[in-house]
Order: sequence, then C-alpha cells, then structure tokens
Amino acid sequence: MHPSRQARIGNMQASATPLMYAIQDVPGKGKGLVATTDIPKGTRIISEKPIFAVGEPVETELADRVTSLSQHHRGEFLSMSNIHPFNDYLAQWVGILYTNALPVGSKLDLSGIFITACRINHACDNNAAHVWHNDCNRLTVHAIRDISKGEEITISYLGGAFDRNERQEELQRRFHFTCSCQLCSLLSQQSIESDLILNRINEIDNIISDEAGLGPRGINRTPENLLCLIEEMIQLWDRHDHSPNPVGLAHAYYLAFQITKARGDFARARVFADRLVPVRMTFMGMESRYVREHRRLRHDPTVYKFSGVSMQGLTNLDEVPFGPWWHDLEAWLWMRDLGVYEGVTVQNWLNDVY
Ligand SMILES: [Zn+2]
Repeated sequence: MHPSRQARIGNMQASATPLMYAIQDVPGKGKGLVATTDIPKGTRIISEKPIFAVGEPVETELADRVTSLSQHHRGEFLSMSNIHPFNDYLAQWVGILYTNALPVGSKLDLSGIFITACRINHACDNNAAHVWHNDCNRLTVHAIRDISKGEEITISYLGGAFDRNERQEELQRRFHFTCSCQLCSLLSQQSIESDLILNRINEIDNIISDEAGLGPRGINRTPENLLCLIEEMIQLWDRHDHSPNPVGLAHAYYLAFQITKARGDFARARVFADRLVPVRMTFMGMESRYVREHRRLRHDPTVYKFSGVSMQGLTNLDEVPFGPWWHDLEAWLWMRDLGVYEGVTVQNWLNDVY
C-alpha cells in the first residue's frame, strides 16, 4: 500500500478516539448514542469497519456470515432490535439485518452491520451524518452541527428532502416507527413552512437530475436556468435551518460543478469546486476520496475525466470577473444577468486568492 494512503487510513482510525459518546437507553427509542462531551461541527465521531456485509438476496450468505462471527460479535448482532416477525433463526437474522443495516460497498448496494453505528437512531433534523469509504472499508460518522454534551447523536435513515407526511410514511413503511424529532414536532404553521421549503428543494432536485436537465442538450440549452434553480436550492437550505444541512448544500454545489464543468465553463466550475470542498469535508473528513478529488479539481477542473462534454460555455480557469463588490462575482457565478458581463475585464482573481 502506498505510504500516503496508509497514513490517511491511519488518521481515519486514530481520529475516532477517545470516545465522545456512550450507548445508553433513550426514552422511547431503545438503545442510542448520547454525547458524553460537547462535539463541534465537523468532528469525526465514529470510524468503524462492519462485522459483516451481505448483498441481495441476503438469505444466501447470511447464515454463513452470522455463524462465522466471533461469540462477542454474534452476541452484539443478536442483541440488536428486530421489527420483523420470524419463526426460525434465519428469518430472525434477516429481520435484525433489515432493521439495523447501513448501506456499504462501492455502489452502496450491500447491507453492513456495525456494532456502534447501527445503534444510532434516526432524526429528520439529524445532527450527524454517516458516509461509507470504499477505499478503506470503513464507515464514518461526523457531526454536521454542534452537538452538546448529553444530546442524542442522530443520523437520517432517509436520503433527500421530504415533507413531514412523506417522511413519516417512509419511516413507518421501512422501520415501523413514528418519528417525533424536532422537525416532525413543529407547530402547524412552522411545519407547513418547512414542508413548502423541502418540497421545493425536492422539486428542483428532480428537475436538475432529470435527463432533460443534466443531459447534454439540457446543459447546452439552459445553463443559466439550471444555475438559477441551484442557487434557489442553496437559499432554501439556508432558510430552512439556521445551521444548513451540509449534505444538502454539498449536493447543490456538486450539481453546479457538474453542469458548468460539462459545458467547458472551467472558471465557474473551479469556484463551485472550491465551495464544495469545505462543505463536503464537514461530513466526510479530509481523507475522503471525494474531498481529495475536489481539492485537486478546485485548482484545475480540466483534469476531470468528463471534462469537455460540450465546449459551448468555454471559459479559461482564471476568467473570473474582478470587481470591488462581492455581489458582482455572485451575479457572474450564477449567470444572473449574462449581458452585464459581456466585455468585462477579467483578471487572475483566483490566483490571488489561492
Ligand atoms: Zn422526524
């Protein structure tokens, strides 16, 4: 193994100690993780390998995996909760797996069991986020906002932005519980406002992720419309929470990076990569392959393997308008008014900054 990679993986393991949590009974939730110290945003709380992982159909491998576990690990697995009915050992193990597993593998298509991370309960306004790192076969959990001593550490079992009814239906269908987190407990008017924002974020995501939006024709035809939607998405995340969800923000900046980079608009792609890195680092850690890749791309997005899908928006790396007012850069970046910037003097603004 390359020494630098060994060092990164070493960091990933070492930074998980000392423990910042205790596994305790949480009222109404069974076991859960509770912070035993104040945990600042961006802190890695857990770095853990699975005791096993299986793919679908799980029945094929599960019996072998469970019977091969050490006595300690088997005891931990069997002590996990099970919301599914069963009438034999295999059905019980499948039930425990489906109740507790977290997605792992290069395509996140495997179910992994973790002694600690699987004890973390769900909240729709989660204060931590889990990420699978395929290159070192580990799952990390980072604080995505400041967590106070005594507060329960929570992750989201759902991906994306959903309104309260959708969240409750999905949690009931998949995990058989009713969520009573702060977001689900908002008073009526606040809850309606939250739902409107989350539904709009979801709607924008669908428009952009749709083939018509991200396909080559969509990119060439409407880049300013797509960036306008992404800027709205970021503003909505800001409005939704005083401490915006970095996972949602990273998704938005990554979409903007993809759209501009694919048009050959390397100047804007570089700025979006630069904004993406610190947000991703919050919940992935600086050793993450994705963070390392985008740290490289913020210096030169032309090295990206899909660069140059289209050159209709071609800009040079340093072609960023320089002005005394910050909003000038923002207006250029988001293509708010293309006409204003025609013929504008460009300087090596980024070279001064980096
Ligand atoms: Zn909730």
